[in-house]
Amino acid sequence: MNISELLCWGESILGKKYSFDSKVLLAHCLNLKFNDIYFSHLNKKNITIKESELYKKLVLKRKKAIPTEYITGDTEFMGLKFSVNKNVLIPRQETECLIEHVLKILKYLKKPVKILDVGTGSGNIAVSIANYSTNSHISAIDISKEAIKIAKKNASLNNVTKKIEFIQSDIFGSISKLKYKKYDLIISNPPYIKTEEIKTLQREIHNEPVIALDGGKDGLAFYKRIIPESKKYLNKRGYLIFEIGYHHSDPVKEIMKINGYKRIKILKDYTNQERIIYGQNYY
Ligand code: GLN
Repeated sequence: MNISELLCWGESILGKKYSFDSKVLLAHCLNLKFNDIYFSHLNKKNITIKESELYKKLVLKRKKAIPTEYITGDTEFMGLKFSVNKNVLIPRQETECLIEHVLKILKYLKKPVKILDVGTGSGNIAVSIANYSTNSHISAIDISKEAIKIAKKNASLNNVTKKIEFIQSDIFGSISKLKYKKYDLIISNPPYIKTEEIKTLQREIHNEPVIALDGGKDGLAFYKRIIPESKKYLNKRGYLIFEIGYHHSDPVKEIMKINGYKRIKILKDYTNQERIIYGQNYY
């Protein structure tokens, strides 16, 4: 089969809606960049039996709702390449807003800034900030040993290993092992989906790690843990910045207020959803 025949086959199995996924998988099997699929089609590239067999195998895997990113083993976030596997949440585009906002704060602060990334997962937040800033030292923590492994790999892939310290820690449980005791910025994209809601989400999400998604009964469990404790680890006027889910801005703002955070602001993402909340630690 040639490229267009294989793509047709892939779409016939997955459905037209998944034409993008069929192309990503084919590019992966042929070791091509995504856009090259079109050029090599014109060139009538010869496809080996091994390549087409692999493609068919991967399409059938995708049919079982395994996310394409787990099949190819990588994804793109903030224009950078990240390795992913079933132990980490696949970085979401919405989270890029969080990074962009943090980069703005770093520009404004100018001085060297110490940052703590709570629940780093694939390390997408820590690695992106390290890559796009010149004045940051980042500590990144996660409860999952497997996630820390992937995050370290991603730091190395993107040449920022020297700028990030990784340790396994359940929230702030083991952070005494880190080099710095106080931070200028604490960032987190914690699990924030209500437990009951998880089963209503698309099938692919059920193949992502539940500990990276489940925010307890009201989706707020991690905000309730992180906000009161974070003050111990933040410098005066240090920033606490979160990604939030639907309808979470009011309750999270309230928890921040009760705990003495001031200048609390909420920002929207590209789809006009409230997505980021941040405030400053005033004693
Ligand atoms: N920090 C990672 C991300 O933003 C992981 C988040 C998580 O596991 N909840 O994708």
